[in-house]
Parts: sequence; C-alpha cells; structure tokens
Amino acid sequence: MRTSRTHQPLTYDVRLPDEAQADALRLLDATRRVVNQALIMLWPHLDEFGSERAGPAWKQVGKYLGSPDFHGDRQWRCESEVVGRLLRQQAERKKAFELVAPILSDGFIRPTTEKRPAGKNRPVIKEAITALQKSLEEDETSFVALQNVVEQSCNFFFQHDRFPIDYEELQPVPLLKVGMLTYAGDDGREKGQAYRLALDLEAEVAHFRFRSPDEAGTWHWASVDTIIPLPECLKERLPHGELMAPTLREECRADGERFAVLDFIIEVEKEALPEWRSVERVLGADWGVHSLLTATAVDEHSEQVGRPFFLDSGSFDGRQARTRRQIDELKKKVARYEQERDALPEEHAKRAWYTQRLVLYRREIDLCWRKYEQRNRALAHLASNVLVLLARVHGCSLLSMESLKTLKTTGRGKGVRGRWRNYRNNSTIRGEIWKLLRYKCHLIGLRFHTEQPRGTSHTCPHCGQPASTYRSPSERKKAVKWGRWMYCDACSYNGDRDYCASVNIARLGIAYLIQMKHTGKARSCSMTDPRVKPVSYTGAGAVLLLPPTGSHARPIVSGKISYYPGWLGSAFLQSSQRKAVFLRLCG
Ligand SMILES: [Zn+2]
Repeated sequence: MRTSRTHQPLTYDVRLPDEAQADALRLLDATRRVVNQALIMLWPHLDEFGSERAGPAWKQVGKYLGSPDFHGDRQWRCESEVVGRLLRQQAERKKAFELVAPILSDGFIRPTTEKRPAGKNRPVIKEAITALQKSLEEDETSFVALQNVVEQSCNFFFQHDRFPIDYEELQPVPLLKVGMLTYAGDDGREKGQAYRLALDLEAEVAHFRFRSPDEAGTWHWASVDTIIPLPECLKERLPHGELMAPTLREECRADGERFAVLDFIIEVEKEALPEWRSVERVLGADWGVHSLLTATAVDEHSEQVGRPFFLDSGSFDGRQARTRRQIDELKKKVARYEQERDALPEEHAKRAWYTQRLVLYRREIDLCWRKYEQRNRALAHLASNVLVLLARVHGCSLLSMESLKTLKTTGRGKGVRGRWRNYRNNSTIRGEIWKLLRYKCHLIGLRFHTEQPRGTSHTCPHCGQPASTYRSPSERKKAVKWGRWMYCDACSYNGDRDYCASVNIARLGIAYLIQMKHTGKARSCSMTDPRVKPVSYTGAGAVLLLPPTGSHARPIVSGKISYYPGWLGSAFLQSSQRKAVFLRLCG
C-alpha cells in the first residue's frame, strides 16, 4: 500500500451479506492455510524482510517460494502480499528486540511479595528505554515498539525464569488465527483475476465478485455479484480519495460465530500543514493527574488566550474497573466449570450441561470486553475531537502535546488493585487518544508536536521558576509531589497543577514554534531553557472563534456540568467558560 507524506489510508469495514458468507469463509479458510504454510517456510529468512523493503511484499515472497497450495497466480500473489507484510512487520520488531536485548535485566522484574504476585517494574523499564532511546535519537513511535518487545520479553521471563536468547525464541511464528486476504496483489478492481469490484454511486452500492472454492474444493468465480450497500461515511469520502484494493477478513466472536467482512480502503490526501510563519497560537495539552486531559491556548507573544479546558473522565474509570472485575469473575467461573467438567467421566450426563453453561459465560465475557473497548474508543474519540475543536476555536495551528512516555496515576480507585486498573486503562486510553489526535491533525491540517513533560508540573508558568505542589490551596505546610495545587515561592503565583502543566506544555510549544520561524530547525527545549518564556494572562483574547450554531441535539444541562448526549454519567467536561459558550463548544 502506498503510504506517503501526502496521503493516508482510511478503512471502512462492511459485513458481507449472508448469501456470500459461506463462500467468503471457505475462501478465507483456504487462504489462511496457504498463508500459514508460507509463514512457517519463510520464518528462517526473517532478517531479509527487514533489510529489503522496496517494492511490493508479494514480489519479495515470490523470490523465495511458489505457492504451497496453488489456486491461481493472482490468488497466490494476494496471499503472498499478506505473508510479506506480516514478515516485514515482524522483521521491524526483531530489530527493536535486538536493540533492547542488551538492556534486559532482572531489574525489570518485580519479585513476588506477600501482597502482590511478581510483575513488571515499569518505572525501571521506562527509564531504561528512555535512556536507550536517547542514544538512538529516534522518534516517539519507536518508544512504543521498544516497550512492546520489552513487555513481551518480561512475559517470557515469567514463564521460563530467564529472558529469551533471540527474537525467534521470544516470538513464535505469527500464524494467522483468522483468515485475511488483501487484494492488493491482484490487477485492480476492473481486471482482477481473484476479485472484481465496481461502484454504482447512483444506487449507492458496490458490486463485489470473488473467486472461492466450493464445498467440493473446486475453485471458481461466484455466479452472481455480491451487492454491498455503501456506508454513509464511505460515500462522503469517495469523491476526495482514491479507492484502493479491498481486504477480505474474517471476524470471530468468542461464542464461535464467524463472519466475513470487506474492508474498503480509501487513500485520501492529507491536508497541507500550515506554513510555520502563519502559525500564531499553540494549544498545549497535558495528561492530567486529576483530570484526563487539560488544555490551554497561548499565543506567540506568550499571552494565554482563552480559558483552560479540563476533560475529566469522572465516573468513567469506576465503570471500566467494574467491567474488568466482572470479566475476572466470569473467567474464574469458566475455569472452575472447565475443571469440574473435565473431572467427570467421558460419558457423564452432566457434561453437556457444563458445556452449555461455558458457552454462555464465554459469550458474556466477549460482550463485556466489547462494551469495555467500545467505551474506551468512544471516550478517545470524544477527547480527541474536543481537543481538535478547541485548537480550531482558539485559532491554534499547532497542537503541543505532552509525550506519551509519562503515565501518571490518577490516585482514584480503592486500594492498590483498583488504582492499578485505572492506571492500566488510562494508559490504554492515552495511547488511543494520542493515535487519534495525530491522525485527525494530519487529516484536517493541524500541526502536531509532542513535548517532554519533565518539570512541566513543577515550574511556575508565570515566572519560570521551579515551584512545588501541595494538597490544596490552603494546605501549604508540606510539599506533596502529586499535590493538585501549585504554589510559586518566587512570585506567589498559584493555580491548579494540571492547568499549570498545560500552560507549560504550551510554553514549550511556543519556544519550538519561535525556533521553527527563525531558524527552520526543529529542536525541542527543556523547561529550564531561557528560550521558554513566561506566560501572562490578562483575559484579553478570551473570545472564542466559535463556529455558527446549527441544529443539533442539545447536551443535557444539570447545574454546572453539562453532559454530552450519550455520555450521561460516564464522562463530563468541565470548563470555566460560561454555560452558553460551553454548550456551543460541545455541540
Ligand atoms: Zn512564579
């Protein structure tokens, strides 16, 4: 697939109509067998997929082998495209593993104590990876890649009591568990020899036809087109992008239900990013200790524009933790029932009863996971949309974001386990928001830059001196590292710590912006750099550049909190803006 600086692919999946399911699933089963055989055969050549990446993946696979089970030339090309892409991904992970292999140490493992089983020592891991990464001068994404292989290596340690010797020991051959077939190896929508796809925009449908084996295992083209109604969002995108070869995929639910979906892939042009000289304002966003996100806009003259914005995930964390507990309980039940069933003699009448209950429980677990993930995704979308919108209404063309590397605990939840759950879920959500933001910024033409958070919540945004945080504005006897109130001894400025941190992130963003304008060289500053200027706030420029109000479902208002439709009781947005302004902002 062509991915470039100027284009990006968008994917929309559509479940195939029932009449095409049986054929599609047979095709995917056949594909999976071939792909997996090829993966096993090529696994010893993994390194070569890391060194050479030019050209389509299927060509590279073709250099080593022909189809282990031939069902047509283009069918094999499509299958080998899947194989090649998987191997290229794995080869990248292997490189990441080779980078971290020398730093894997027992220090990464937290030994068993009375209260907690053995686990990963995340602060130590984070520090080690950060140090390693500094020596590499690589970007954000590779931190995640490095962390990912370290996590996997630690899991290996728990099973084998030692770290893996090489990547192949760590990673089994990544066989496909469900079928997947990209048609990118074929000759296109009109001339394809494994599939055809034609759009009928007037009727708003796609005509899809594909080759597959029948029940007897004979391959042939389907006798009729599969008619797929085009989803709304796809129709909107079509005029502005190029339709790429689709991917046929199998989805499998925990209760055993399988179905085939077709991924429509549209490559759209990214919006041109604004010229640096036209950027005047920066929106600084900080992963809060108390709120999920805090954002403040600052202009290039170091004047804060507009009021800060807090996104509090409120009772959301509690709900997610409850769902996780529910899943754990169900898993325990499943384990117990399995054990009890297996203890029964082969022909025992109660076995069927157990099997029935197990199916029910597994379905319930699947439902819980889906609910859990859906909520996370929805929150991530809401948060990233709000931030993008805030940047727009404040006239900011640069979004300065605290880097993902820091994961602060929220301090919410009861006891270590509860806190740990929130912490874990918060890191998932942050990752999700970060990805969505980067993607949305590219899509609409906002500059996006991440800043190192060191010192951002312990520096006074008004005079730039180091400052301490305290439990509350009135309790200033003892400084508390995670305290929610910041007080500056140098200039007596004080304020909410998350707010101060977001202003500081914006200050870093401004320093970065000024450098880009003057020297054209990208260089991030640290908090103590004299180029990072203090910010003042007079309330001028607080008027939002709001879009005109249209007709939309109004958020529900109760007191000072306004709930976004569909978000009742799960997340709330808080702002010091007047209610009417705030409601328009969320609309
Ligand atoms: Zn100060």
